[in-house]
Amino acid sequence: MSTFSADSVRAALDELHARIAAAGGSDVEIVAVTKTFGPEAIEAALAAGCRSIGENYAQELVAKREAAQAAEVHFIGQLQTNKVRQLADIVDVYETVDRPKLANEIAKRAPGARVLIQVDATGEPGKGGVPLAELDRLVEHVRTLDLDLIGLMTVGPTDGGPSAAAPGFRSVRAAVDRLGLSVCSMGMTGDLEVAVAEGSTQVRVGTALFGRRVRTRSDQER
Ligand SMILES: *Cc1c(COP(=O)(O)O)cnc(C)c1O
Repeated sequence: MSTFSADSVRAALDELHARIAAAGGSDVEIVAVTKTFGPEAIEAALAAGCRSIGENYAQELVAKREAAQAAEVHFIGQLQTNKVRQLADIVDVYETVDRPKLANEIAKRAPGARVLIQVDATGEPGKGGVPLAELDRLVEHVRTLDLDLIGLMTVGPTDGGPSAAAPGFRSVRAAVDRLGLSVCSMGMTGDLEVAVAEGSTQVRVGTALFGRRVRTRSDQER
């Protein structure tokens, strides 16, 4: 069981800042990933000074909407088109746009919303994201919509350890620059040093702030 409080999260946040600084990062935004924890994780994160929280599951986020109100809410999970409507007044940044239909739906339900396109830089199944080869076409489409495209997001590989993530992170950062975007969301508890070294501007961190998650993805109501 994980236990945490505003104090424990604050201490963990200090360590996280130190890790980011040691990896050469300055001005790296921290999104506190509160998935699978109750609303008290969001409250502790806010009390500890985090401004942004990340959630993966639509139903779960809707259940925590009250606690999430005071935060900048980033949706970081794979998103079904039919879930967008109920998230429209909760989510501030959609990080996982990876297909035209999803972009269309967000533009319709949350016009003007800030979005990131999720890039699949590993080819591992089940993570979502548009392959790099198809990125420009999706960017072009999103730019025709009433959306504020601010950056790219990617998830490092599960296999191979943190160093295996470096080439993918590097190509996503290069794409951010080439496309004239500003946000590069990459790096989690296990690979944030590599991500920061490769130019991440935003890490999404759960375990290092709140401890291990007890429930797993497959337990989740999606
Ligand atoms: C769960 C999750 C995170 C946080 O992972 P930790 O290893 O707990 O830091 C970050 N990004 C995404 C997309 C996630 O699903």
